[in-house]
Order: sequence, then structure tokens, then C-alpha cells
Amino acid sequence: MLMDDHLLAMHGGPRSKTVPFGTGRRFGDEELLELKEALEQNTLFYHYGQKVKTFLTRFNELYGVPYSVAASSGTAAIHIALGAAGVSVGDEVITSPITDQGTVVGILYQNAIPVFADLDPHTYNMDPVSIESRITSRTKAIVAVHLAGNPCEMDPIMDIARKYGLKVIEDCAQSYLTRYRGRLAGTIGDYGCFSTNDFKHISTGDGGIVTVNSGREADYHTAHAFADKNYRRLGQDVIRDLHGIAPNYRMTELQGAVGIAQLSKLPGICSSRSHHGQRLTWAIAGLNGITAPQVNAGNESTYWFYMLRVDEGVLGASREEFSEALAQEGIPNVPGYIPEVVYMQPLFQKREAYAGSHFPFDLTGITYERGICPTAEGILRTAVRLSISEFYTDQDIDEMGAGIRKVANYFYSRK
Ligand SMILES: *Cc1c(COP(=O)(O)O)cnc(C)c1O
Repeated sequence: MLMDDHLLAMHGGPRSKTVPFGTGRRFGDEELLELKEALEQNTLFYHYGQKVKTFLTRFNELYGVPYSVAASSGTAAIHIALGAAGVSVGDEVITSPITDQGTVVGILYQNAIPVFADLDPHTYNMDPVSIESRITSRTKAIVAVHLAGNPCEMDPIMDIARKYGLKVIEDCAQSYLTRYRGRLAGTIGDYGCFSTNDFKHISTGDGGIVTVNSGREADYHTAHAFADKNYRRLGQDVIRDLHGIAPNYRMTELQGAVGIAQLSKLPGICSSRSHHGQRLTWAIAGLNGITAPQVNAGNESTYWFYMLRVDEGVLGASREEFSEALAQEGIPNVPGYIPEVVYMQPLFQKREAYAGSHFPFDLTGITYERGICPTAEGILRTAVRLSISEFYTDQDIDEMGAGIRKVANYFYSRK
């Protein structure tokens, strides 16, 4: 029997994916050696040992920034930046409704109020026009989330921040070595926050980094203290005078050690992911009913994942039908990303961050209605997410592209 290459795997045709996806080991002898050295120091405290310090020095060199602070997680890194930026009770902080919930945790711990800006339909990043429309006299900061490796439009965001006197914190948890018009994401705002949890480009198990971009040593000291219960350790003597509350978000030498080895792999990981993401976009260009994620001209994405959108009306199939047919082609994918925009979470719907209290929401009476960010809601309803890995081969990407083309063309031609 002759096989028709255009017959969907779902209907008995050949699967688009013919070989297993490339895989690899993230950790090796480099990490082991660093860990051994860390233990041989006879201390795992970041301030006495050399591993966290070396990790940060290398990070600063890679990023060309003067100062950075280590943290216990990406969530902690964002909280540190908010605290160091002076975000406090009753302030409003504008951020993205499509992000990890770690983005909003620190805002609420500072008793500040998250305000959500709508997104661009194709980059999935915050729309500067929407950001500006959300500004009030309470607005103190913008947390700009660079989603899935793709940079926000930082020039207009920085212009808005300067115009209204706001701090800008970049959430780079998904966006290592991402470039906005040649500049690295995380070096443009006042602070850049990174995560080294086990699912990010590089892993230390858990961990985070905050860059302090003002170049002012005092700002570095403030951020450093905010990660360490407000202990001031960077002068001659440790100062323990407690002038305000700050959490303990310290990184240990074990994480720092693994981080050193991981950092040396980061450029290779990012260039592989960039290459794969671009290759997939070329492979699916021009399809009816499928829109590839957009990387704006002059920018570079390092693709933490790959999220395309289905236009069900044009395609002639539902997103779920498309997703299922693609899965049968041997190409794993998930409809959507987070289940709902962040503001539809019970915390925001009930306006209850702290049990039994509506504080700080009751300071302004803010409510979070469905429809406040219609584009963001539309993205989550129509998106299909595919994995990108630095271990994938060109063949993997080409077969992903072929599968998407086959499924999309089938549904479109059947219309
Ligand atoms: C992962 C992530 C975080 C939180 O990082 P953790 O290390 O898990 O706390 C914050 N923001 C975004 C966009 C993320 O993807």
C-alpha cells in the first residue's frame, strides 16, 4: 500500500516525527568539581566562601553590569528588586497577566497592589500603550516580564518610566541572553531578575540573581541587605541595625558552585535555542490559521518555549483539534500556557492575599474583572505551546515544522 505523506498520523498516515527528540545531560564533571571545592572550603555561607562571589563576578562579566546580588529563587530576586526599589505599602506595580505567579508574589509581600497591563497579540509581552493607561498617582514601578525568551519593547517602557518617575524591574526568569536592539535584557531597567530553578535555561536546583544597574554602590548595598535580613555585610564591620523588614533570601555556596559551571554553558544553550526557535518560525511561515510568535526587528529571543497561536476561524479547526492531531504526529504540545491570566486566580478574584484580609486591595478598592486585558485572555485561549531544548537537532525542528504544516494544511484544505 502506498503511504500518502499528507495523510495525518491520526488517520493512519506516517508520523511527522520519525526519530526520538535529542536529549542530553545538563550537569557533569564541571559541576561536581565546583561542588567538591565548595565543600572543601569548610563553609557553605556565601559571605565566607568564594563560590557565590565567583558566580556573581562571572555573571557581571557576561552581562556587563557593575553589580548583582544572589537570591534563593527567581521569586526572591523579584522581591529583592521591589524592596530595594522602595516599593511599599499601597504602591501600585504594573506587570503582565501572562507570567509565572512568582512575578506577583513580591509585590504582594511588599503590600503593594499588582495592576495588569494588556499584551501585544504576537510577542505576548506588555504593550507600552496599555502600561501608560494604567498609571495612577500610586504607581511606583513596572515589572516588565520578558516572556519565553523574547524581549519587551524596552525603549518605550523606559520612556514611560522616566516620564512618570517609575522604577523598572525586568523579569528575565525566562529570558537569558535575550537581546533588545543589541542590549541584554536585564541590563536596561533599574534591576534585572533571573531564576535558576530547575526548569530555566540554567539550573542550580533553585536560585536567583538580581542585577543592580544604576551603577550606584549604595543601591547595590541596599539590594544586598534586602536579600539578607537587612544585615549590612559589605562595609568594614557587619551592621545589624534593623531599620525595616527584609527577608532572608540568601544563596548557598552549593548553588553558587553549580551556578559557576552552568554559567559557562549558558552562551551555548542560548545560541542553540535561538537557532531552533528561528528555524521553526521559518519552517511554519505563511501557513493559514497559524501565527508564529513574533520577535520584533532588531531583537533576539532565546526561546524558553515556543508558543504559536491558532486562528480557529481561518484554520477551520479548534485549537484542541489542532493540538491533538499534532500530538499524534509525534510532536508533544500543550494548548495554552498558564490556565488563566494571573488576575483570574482566586487570590485576585477574592482579593485575599493574606488569610481573612482584603489588604492591600481595599486601599484602592481595585477589582480584577474578566476582560481587563482582552488580548492576554485571547492569547491563552488560542495558544499552543511547544518545547524547545538546546539538545534538539535540526532534524527535530524540521520534523516539528513539517508536522505543523501537515496538520494546518489538512484542516485548512478541508474547510
Ligand atoms: C520561573 C519564573 C519566576 C520565578 O522563579 P522561581 O525561581 O521559580 O521562583 C518568575 N517569573 C517568571 C516569568 C518565571 O518564569
